[in-house]
Amino acid sequence: MRVTLLGTGDTTGTPTVGCDCDTCTAARERGVERTRFSVHVENERTDESLLIDFSPDFRYQFLRDEVPLPDAAVITHIHFDHLDGLGNVFRVLDDLSVYAADETDPETGASVAETVRADYHYLDRVTVVPTTPLETERICGLDVTLVPVEHPPLICYGLAVEDPETGAKLSITGDTSYAVPEESRAVLADPDLLLADAIVPASLCDHHPLGGRHEDATGVARTFGTKHMTREGALALAAELDATRTRLVHLAHFYPAAEAFEEPLAIDGEQYVL
Ligand SMILES: [Zn+2]
Ligand SMILES: [Zn+2]
Ligand SMILES: [Zn+2]
Repeated sequence: MRVTLLGTGDTTGTPTVGCDCDTCTAARERGVERTRFSVHVENERTDESLLIDFSPDFRYQFLRDEVPLPDAAVITHIHFDHLDGLGNVFRVLDDLSVYAADETDPETGASVAETVRADYHYLDRVTVVPTTPLETERICGLDVTLVPVEHPPLICYGLAVEDPETGAKLSITGDTSYAVPEESRAVLADPDLLLADAIVPASLCDHHPLGGRHEDATGVARTFGTKHMTREGALALAAELDATRTRLVHLAHFYPAAEAFEEPLAIDGEQYVL
């Protein structure tokens, strides 16, 4: 399984357009970037590719990283930065299966699958496959399991991707607070590679109107506001899941420049063979 981090940024990415903060400036100087979230998973045994989330930067990411176009995709939730690249497949892909959760979101009155189908009704070569969380689907020769996470007010899912032949395992937290349910943690546990949402360091919680939550024993917030993990929260989750390797993703340009490119914060284009 070859995993390419196509997009490691939050909803505005780094550099953010129109921003000359120290972190965006440092990114430009280093020639690195964090575009909107997407992960490419290639099954080298079957020569198929699975895309996790449709970044608005889809076209640019595929040109830049020269990975194969996807044979199937998973959508974790309906926020702009994870879904709105789907329109890019028009006249590019002949057919595509898009897997998304089948549970009704009380906030929207529709499941992620239903919203994707409704928003992209004009893409008649896209087949939306409603998928039951916590049940494993074989996609592109890989075992994929969606797991509920906490990203209020919308429902959102993380996922585990396992190679049934080699046992290699990739876990992705999705956009989530630290309050990942126990049954979801059990599915995500023991990955060879964990990609964990770590939007900002805990020190920035003072700047969020809702502050932080899910503090550890020393008072460090593991959740920023209500929707995302802090760096410290993501690393705590990685330790609890006993991840062999962890890359922090969904990163904002609000990281201070001195911390923004430290390990294990990811940048676009990183590739891992599991
Ligand atoms: Zn900036
Ligand atoms: Zn989100
Ligand atoms: Zn997001």
